[in-house]
Amino acid sequence: MPRKATQATTEPPARPRPCADPDCRGRHAPRERVALAVSICEGRGERMTAFRRRILELLWESGRPTGAYELIEAVERGESRRVGPPTVYRALEFLMAQGLVSRIESLNAYVPCAHPERDHDCLFFICRGCRASVELEDPRIGGLLAEDAALLGFVATRRTVEVEGMCARCAEAAPA
Ligand SMILES: [Zn+2]
Ligand SMILES: [Zn+2]
Ligand SMILES: [Zn+2]
Repeated sequence: MPRKATQATTEPPARPRPCADPDCRGRHAPRERVALAVSICEGRGERMTAFRRRILELLWESGRPTGAYELIEAVERGESRRVGPPTVYRALEFLMAQGLVSRIESLNAYVPCAHPERDHDCLFFICRGCRASVELEDPRIGGLLAEDAALLGFVATRRTVEVEGMCARCAEAAPA
């Protein structure tokens, strides 16, 4: 792979633009979402290091839940240096603590949160065919979970809902 030129690229830096479309289904330009994440961390006084940022970029570029070992391979390919799993796990822990990334338990993989700029429950639809994931926000789900938690006297800290199945494209391609 050719080394990156040292002079500034012609691409202007991405400007963070908080999402105003409740029906965007999480479709955003990775560069803009990463820029947004950086500005969120700055606002909180949290350090978004180059390495943490790289991990977030890789997750956005992947477009599907990605496992830690895949991330390690991708980082090593790009930087031609060894990266230990603990380094990647620590970066993921930071990104999750900041609400920038969610862990998909059923796949043991990670996805970037589409809307870290606002408080919401992450509702992920994960395709078993192509492994793509789409994040939706449905305030009705959050309302129901809050009601149920109140019944139990349970204090929920973070709610991530995973729905597994087939995306429209894979369902269409599947033999009837
Ligand atoms: Zn959006
Ligand atoms: Zn989310
Ligand atoms: Zn699919």
